[in-house]
Amino acid sequence: MRSITLTAPGHLEIKQIDDRKQLTDNTVRVKVTACGICGSDLALYTGHRDLSSEHYFGHEFSGTVTEVGNGANGIKEGMRVASELIHGCGRCWFCRNGLQNYCKSLNYALLPGGFTEETLVTNNDEYSFLSPIPDELDDITASIMEPANCAYYVALKANIKPGDTVLVFGLGAIGLVSAMILKTMGAGKVIGADRSKLRIEQIRQTGLLDVIDTSNDNWLQQIQEMTAKEGVDVVVEATGAPQVLSDAMKTARTGGRIVVASVYSGFISKFEPLPIMRKELTIVGAKGPAPLVKTDGTSAVVDKVMKMKEDLQKIIKVYDYKDALQAFADARSGAAIKAVIKF
Ligand SMILES: [Zn+2]
Ligand SMILES: [Zn+2]
Repeated sequence: MRSITLTAPGHLEIKQIDDRKQLTDNTVRVKVTACGICGSDLALYTGHRDLSSEHYFGHEFSGTVTEVGNGANGIKEGMRVASELIHGCGRCWFCRNGLQNYCKSLNYALLPGGFTEETLVTNNDEYSFLSPIPDELDDITASIMEPANCAYYVALKANIKPGDTVLVFGLGAIGLVSAMILKTMGAGKVIGADRSKLRIEQIRQTGLLDVIDTSNDNWLQQIQEMTAKEGVDVVVEATGAPQVLSDAMKTARTGGRIVVASVYSGFISKFEPLPIMRKELTIVGAKGPAPLVKTDGTSAVVDKVMKMKEDLQKIIKVYDYKDALQAFADARSGAAIKAVIKF
């Protein structure tokens, strides 16, 4: 089977793998059609995250189930599925405290991951990471289900009131899609902020969001003007750059809320924490994906993705697996907002 393998930081190899992993109990085999490149995949690629301690490469995928092991409840052969956290064990401390996204059963869910044409996925009573894809949704668009889940979780954690002004720093897929979802949830003005000219240009072309270029010196002034100097009600920080947390605190209004969706690495050299007290800020983290299910047990994220299908398609750029190197380069530079590799 064809595989995009990360052999060392910065070294991707497109190769044929012959050792087909044995299907075990509580696992299903998925023939991958499409897999998106996540910021965390880029961190593995650049060596900012340790490849040897990760168990999989590629987690934003869609495909068809080709084999089902004993006890892999609910999933049938031939089913079209997309990755997305559905539920945890329900018994561990995390599950009992509303933090199913940290469930103890979560480890080793994917082997070797979605950048290989076939991957094993854990699925049982304790843990499920696969969502059935509706017939009306193509596999490419369905591959955005997992980041859409993360973005939806961010939007929920923003806890907005109708008409709230929201500012989203960092318009990668998580930032941009959470901004799009917040619009559908009743936010008033939703403003995006980014410093990549390449990315800003593309988002402006889609017409999905008003964007401020934070590489301009007067960006803070622009936001103050847009909010009558009050600041924004809710800030989403999704850049991954620790110093932007300070900017988020500057732009939030008194009593404002900041949702941190960034996978930070490193430190802030100059950080003024005073606004936390002075402005009574609420700062919350949002680590997706999380099980976002409706009372009937089906995924709320699938509904969202179906409703936003056309807009989501505007931010997806598809690459053949042979062009994986280009896809990773474009995902890094911002030339692709969401690069999706298809097999
Ligand atoms: Zn991801
Ligand atoms: Zn659990």
